[in-house]
Amino acid sequence: LKHQVMHDALTGLPNRSYLLDRIGRVLRRFKRDKGKRCALLYLDIDRFKIINDSLGHLAGDAVLKEFSHRLQSCVREPDIVGRLSGDEFAILLEDVPIPGTAIKIAQRVLEEVGKPLTVAGEVIEPSTSIGIAIGDGNYQFADDLLRDADTAMYRAKKSGRRQFVLYDESLQEIGRASCRERV
Ligand code: GH3
Ligand code: MG
Repeated sequence: LKHQVMHDALTGLPNRSYLLDRIGRVLRRFKRDKGKRCALLYLDIDRFKIINDSLGHLAGDAVLKEFSHRLQSCVREPDIVGRLSGDEFAILLEDVPIPGTAIKIAQRVLEEVGKPLTVAGEVIEPSTSIGIAIGDGNYQFADDLLRDADTAMYRAKKSGRRQFVLYDESLQEIGRASCRERV
């Protein structure tokens, strides 16, 4: 039962609650382990609605499953891949000495995800937009790290999709604006 509560039924990946719990633990550890950092990659598949609309919901589900396998092939323990909701996924990298470490993974993900995929008899080349937020002991709540990574992802969408954006404070205003736009 606990496994069901913490995992997504379609992909079998850890879900949002699981991810938030894990991020919270890592951030609390960083309060003692000063100088340590993690990274959260927030991913949203590009133009996923078109896949659903043109090939059907089942084909969409198959793409979500394959997407989750491709993400998992880009990381290893103790890093985790989770499904946040719909076509939104996250990767938590637990030990990121420099932002370049997270950027390398984001580049690998873009390459891996973009490989051709046959679904419902059609060959598609999926892509994703990625926001990266670097977490350290200054973060109070797991939600805050998720929000910053989401803000950076939103900028990646706005900048043309199929790319990553690293969060920095100059994006804060965009975060607020995008929240207003989305409600
Ligand atoms: P964007 O590039 O802006 O992200 O465009 P998009 O078309 O991907 O838009 P958005 O991310 O908002 O769309 C997500 C879609 O995912 C909407 C919803 O119909 C679909 N979806 C959500 N959950 C599931 C699911 O479990 N299976 C399938 N097949 N589709 C889902
Ligand atoms: Mg999408």
